[in-house]
Amino acid sequence: MITLMQRLYPICRSITGDGLRQTLQIIQEQIPLTLHEVPTGTQAFDWTVPKEWNVRDAYVKNERGEKVIDFQKHNLHLVNYSTPIHQKMPLAELKKHLHSLPDYPDWIPYRTTYYAETWGFCLSHNALSALEEGTYEVYIDSTLEEGHLTYGELVLPGATEEEVLISTHCCHPSLCNDNLAGIALATHLALHLSEQERRYTYRFLFLPGTIGAITWLSQHEAQAARIQHGLVVACVGDPGQMTYKRSRRGDTAIDRAVAHVLQLKAQPYEIVDFSPYGYDERQYCSPGFNLAVGSLTRTPHGRFPEYHTSADNFDLVQPQHLADSLATYLAVLNVLEHNQIVINQKPKGEPQLGKRGLYGSLGGGKSTQDSVMAMLWVLNLADGHHTLLEIAEKANVEFELIRRAAAALLATDLCISGELV
Ligand code: ZN
Repeated sequence: MITLMQRLYPICRSITGDGLRQTLQIIQEQIPLTLHEVPTGTQAFDWTVPKEWNVRDAYVKNERGEKVIDFQKHNLHLVNYSTPIHQKMPLAELKKHLHSLPDYPDWIPYRTTYYAETWGFCLSHNALSALEEGTYEVYIDSTLEEGHLTYGELVLPGATEEEVLISTHCCHPSLCNDNLAGIALATHLALHLSEQERRYTYRFLFLPGTIGAITWLSQHEAQAARIQHGLVVACVGDPGQMTYKRSRRGDTAIDRAVAHVLQLKAQPYEIVDFSPYGYDERQYCSPGFNLAVGSLTRTPHGRFPEYHTSADNFDLVQPQHLADSLATYLAVLNVLEHNQIVINQKPKGEPQLGKRGLYGSLGGGKSTQDSVMAMLWVLNLADGHHTLLEIAEKANVEFELIRRAAAALLATDLCISGELV
């Protein structure tokens, strides 16, 4: 994941343009992503696909011809979606277009101007303070013209057409946690799932934030109805605790699956209710869709100081945090894949496990005790009113232990697969 992030880091991405395209093409080297191009001007519910933005160079030069701000040194120096300009102006005029962070004087902020045609530069507050009075040459070699919005999509078919959505935004330039980490995790999740037998069909979307998700939803209302569970992936590489933001519905299977996995991880975590801000869960949970989509992050957007600054880099994102996030995602998907109803065929009195070899077959010691306990839980709650996840919740043990107990029981005359009653 870090290797993929390192390749993608230098690229100047935006909500449209060649940086976004190139990013998706690099992901394509790892997973068979399909790239879709939606023309400028396409209506997407209340929004319109914007003009495509591309940039070749941008700088500000002082009177001695020295570049005091240089896009080539860091792409955050240019306000994303800046219109072209080549003009000389006094410092006072230039300053109206400069952005810095006085509280973090070494960091460059990340700013965008997607839906207002203007220009600007971002720089460290120290660099801003060092600018002398005088005339500056401002140069932005960018284009904002008819083109396309690009997004990437991968569908991994499963035994059913019911879908699990994994969605991540990929419109930010050189920023690691938000959201190269999300891109890298989603890519590796797809790699893992592509090697597994799947009950669900998995749909991966790599989209520019907001406009990408709204555009996809506006063109795929029928497919969206097949989404049974979904997660928006973002900010998964920082050292903070995992945070789950529930779906708007609040108590769907994905909400319960994530809560169960986090609860049994023995690490601090936080679960928060849905709110109509954040990442693209806002779109999937808009009232006209109201999908069972939550967002699983580490520290949420805006709650780490490095957020949307040049300090969101490889010092913040570490491999062990990415690995922990990926393992959590895989555990959640394991719950979704194997959650089912089993029915106890001998519900009167406790059935005799020993004569069916259910003690000995599971090894000795503590693990045998845990397994027998898990089987007793399954037998007691396998009444058609509880899924395996609900049994795991009540037993307060890992879903995987309940799943294995259920599998052992299903292999005997004691249990059969059933339906919720
Ligand atoms: Zn962001």
